[in-house]
Amino acid sequence: MPDGPEKRPSGFLDPRRTIAELKELRGFTSDDEGAQRIAFTQKWVATRAWLQAKLRALPVEMHADEAGNLWTTLRGDSQRVLVIGGHMDSVPNGGWLDGCLNVLAGVEILRRISSQYGGKPPVTVRLVDWADEEGARFGKSLFGSSACSGTLNMEEARGLVDKDGIRLPDALKQVGIDFERARECGRELRHAAAYLELHIEQGPVLLDLDLPLGTVLGTFGVERHAVTFHGQAAHSGSTPMNRRKDAFLAAAKMSPEAYRIAGRHGGVCTIGSCATKPGIVTSVVAECRITLDQRHLDAASLADMLREAREASERFAKEGNVTVSWDRLWRIEPILFDADLIKICDDAIAEAGAPTHRLPSGPLHDAAEVARAGVPTVMMFVQSLHGISHNKIEDTKEEHLELCVRAFDRLAEKAMGWVAGGR
Ligand SMILES: [Zn+2]
Repeated sequence: MPDGPEKRPSGFLDPRRTIAELKELRGFTSDDEGAQRIAFTQKWVATRAWLQAKLRALPVEMHADEAGNLWTTLRGDSQRVLVIGGHMDSVPNGGWLDGCLNVLAGVEILRRISSQYGGKPPVTVRLVDWADEEGARFGKSLFGSSACSGTLNMEEARGLVDKDGIRLPDALKQVGIDFERARECGRELRHAAAYLELHIEQGPVLLDLDLPLGTVLGTFGVERHAVTFHGQAAHSGSTPMNRRKDAFLAAAKMSPEAYRIAGRHGGVCTIGSCATKPGIVTSVVAECRITLDQRHLDAASLADMLREAREASERFAKEGNVTVSWDRLWRIEPILFDADLIKICDDAIAEAGAPTHRLPSGPLHDAAEVARAGVPTVMMFVQSLHGISHNKIEDTKEEHLELCVRAFDRLAEKAMGWVAGGR
């Protein structure tokens, strides 16, 4: 690339416009309880029409793929593609930034690139609005991006129903999407050479460190199990303490131990549910089922956390004269982002005048699916006020919103140079 366009000022970028557009979007897609842009609903269709109207002013081509992902393409000198992604859908009663911040920052960056390069950047740049990232209605997130990466389990997805008994394939048909063809959209990633996603953090890490921005290293691996202790029901008055087979007691010992294990390895874990049988006030617990969700960015540490939790459960079972069984509910391996792009993201944040910081992502994002498909990927996080998301109180300071659009634009410019350089 001659002369490094990076050095030119990005005078065409207007982060204030992104904030104004986020407010405009909030105005017609939120009610007193928050954002209501649930995927595949009429509100979501209207959101997309609004987005397309914004993009139509640019020299771009737009189409929805077989899974309903909306692609906007600004053709460049090279076929190699820089992809910027986000999602316009929200959970019911959601926040005003989750997902749409990345898309609208992407719109502003497309405007800047288009004007700076006279409509023809050195590489092709595409903005994608993934369909149904949240999975709020059918309980399965990352629909569009997992269809694109090829990891969508068609069998499982075909059987999903919403609370009104409507099947996913039927809901998709309502908005013109043929479920059976969803995975054909994989070809959209054919020339993708880098993928970037900006997102609000959705947690309190940057807030607690008083930092506006962070570079995301990857997404946590998850091991999710049901752990059931089996004892014996017995009368709560007539059974001496030393004769009990108390399934609850063994399960209860698991919570401090599981949290200690997570702490020791620098991961996180949650015992999110606990159910007892017979579950009456006058009986020793015969069966106690807890769910254990363990997460870590490092696969070996996650495996250690799981092994140690299993060993502890067996120890507590033995001590209490009960037995224990484990059932895996779900797992996913840690997904690490690209080392070069992580470095470039740090540089972009520094250029925007903010301190750099690297952190993992607890939640999964569409970026994880793109990385799984083999496309070099990185995410940038911006601080969440209150550390809260999926809630109408979700918020980020306006100065941080402006800063993140500026830093993300720097990242896009640098990544274009990286892609053009043949990486
Ligand atoms: Zn999101």
